[in-house]
Amino acid sequence: MADLDALPPLRAVIAEHGLSARKALGQNFLLDLNLTSKIARQVPDLAGHDVLEIGPGPGGLTRGLLLEGARRVLAIEKDARCIPALAQIAEASGGRLTVIEGDALEVDPLSHLTPPIAVAANLPYNIGTELLVRWLTPQDWPPFWDSLTLMFQKEVAERIVAAPGSKAYGRLALLAQWRCEAKIVLHLPPSAFTPPPKVSSAVVRLTALPAPRYPADPKVLERVVAMAFNQRRKMLRAALKGLGPDIEDHLRAAGIDPTERAEQVPLEAFCALARSVAQAR
Ligand code: SAM
Repeated sequence: MADLDALPPLRAVIAEHGLSARKALGQNFLLDLNLTSKIARQVPDLAGHDVLEIGPGPGGLTRGLLLEGARRVLAIEKDARCIPALAQIAEASGGRLTVIEGDALEVDPLSHLTPPIAVAANLPYNIGTELLVRWLTPQDWPPFWDSLTLMFQKEVAERIVAAPGSKAYGRLALLAQWRCEAKIVLHLPPSAFTPPPKVSSAVVRLTALPAPRYPADPKVLERVVAMAFNQRRKMLRAALKGLGPDIEDHLRAAGIDPTERAEQVPLEAFCALARSVAQAR
């Protein structure tokens, strides 16, 4: 059995398995193992967690996670061409890596993982936001994961950590910050990837809080926030008209001026608004 340090460089792996990058699968690979180890070190208590990795590709981040001591890694990859390369890593991992060929939007990973669980991924851009929203919006909290360490386009990363009053502030910031600590931990230029994408990237680390910062029903809060930011330039009394004729009363009850725009309203006030709306039902 090879050990992880004896595996060939990622460029050789890509050449051997013919892994030319496919745009439709969002393939921009990280080939520098120093960098993938650096990303892996951003996962809190790696050695104490099973790690779910989405889209391992040729396995750069997978190797980083294993080299940095992850207890176990479950990697879900849609591109069948990558599976033999990942099998070599699995063989060298001493039983710590399991690979599933499949679509991360369809596969249920939980039966393969033992808590505590962390998620780490250089996500394919076309499903990154959808997966993040799924992980952030379970009805019950805490979720199945303790932390998410995720690569995004810089603009998406900025939307996750944005503060009220900024252009990037919106639904993602509120969903993320309501029940998590969210922080950008690394910035990466396009040249870090093969092939280089057009935009810069950033790694965001989200740590699940034991309980939401302010009480609210998740479904009502999501609905209120989605409506408020769907028409973010409108005054809230207009943007939220669909919530009922007494929306101005609810806004005032939550301490929000009905003529304000969504991007000025902090998380605490959105939670108060969701509680007021839920109570009236
Ligand atoms: N983790 C590798 C790295 O950092 O070099 C590859 C990252 S690349 C941005 C995204 C990976 O996700 C690709 O390997 C792609 O094939 C895979 N992928 C795309 N859509 C997927 C899906 N629906 N489910 C699972 N993997 C997917």
